[in-house]
Amino acid sequence: MGASPIIGVLAIQGDVREHSKMLVESGAVVREVKHASDFAGVAGLVIPGGESTTMGILADKNNLFEPLRAAARELPVYGSCAGLIMLADVVTDARLDQPTIGGLHITAQRNAFGRQRDSFEIDLDIDAIGAPAFHAIFIRAPLVTSVGPQVEVLCAMKESVSRDDTHSQDERIVAVRQGNLLATSFHPELTSDLRFHQYFIEMVRSA
Ligand code: GLN
Repeated sequence: MGASPIIGVLAIQGDVREHSKMLVESGAVVREVKHASDFAGVAGLVIPGGESTTMGILADKNNLFEPLRAAARELPVYGSCAGLIMLADVVTDARLDQPTIGGLHITAQRNAFGRQRDSFEIDLDIDAIGAPAFHAIFIRAPLVTSVGPQVEVLCAMKESVSRDDTHSQDERIVAVRQGNLLATSFHPELTSDLRFHQYFIEMVRSA
């Protein structure tokens, strides 16, 4: 893999610009992916945060589910927040029968933190990216409530985050990796900390 891999960012909805900026600052070349033909030549793909229901509807309209599913099988793919939901095999608390790309053997519970803490920020220790703690921004975020045997938990939150948080510590999983698939409940793209994007680019370089 060359020094500057081409990384696609699914660009139909959500924080596309923020991810693109972080990827460029981390040494990648970015391609906005809007049509099936945009996948040619990309070495990795980012599914941004946003609104997974809308993203699913638009992806379907643009006939993107098939190439997105192929990408999730063949390429390093990173999903943040709504992107995590899109990669999940199973989604709970979905408003409608929400189609996902799937491939990541997790159950994602949408809007899992309840009204008490719709949005919050918290520092998380994540071994995979090293010290210091990562300042994680959560916005109507999903939780990973179950993981398959191939899934590596990169981060499970230790503190209860709201009064209506009924999850146990083990269930409060907010970052996972399964081989070529990486997903976070939070939004590194809304910080200036490049470590997650650098970690992902390393996955692409070594794929
Ligand atoms: N709650 C949103 C969803 O279900 C995700 C929010 C986000 O990406 N910030 O898609």
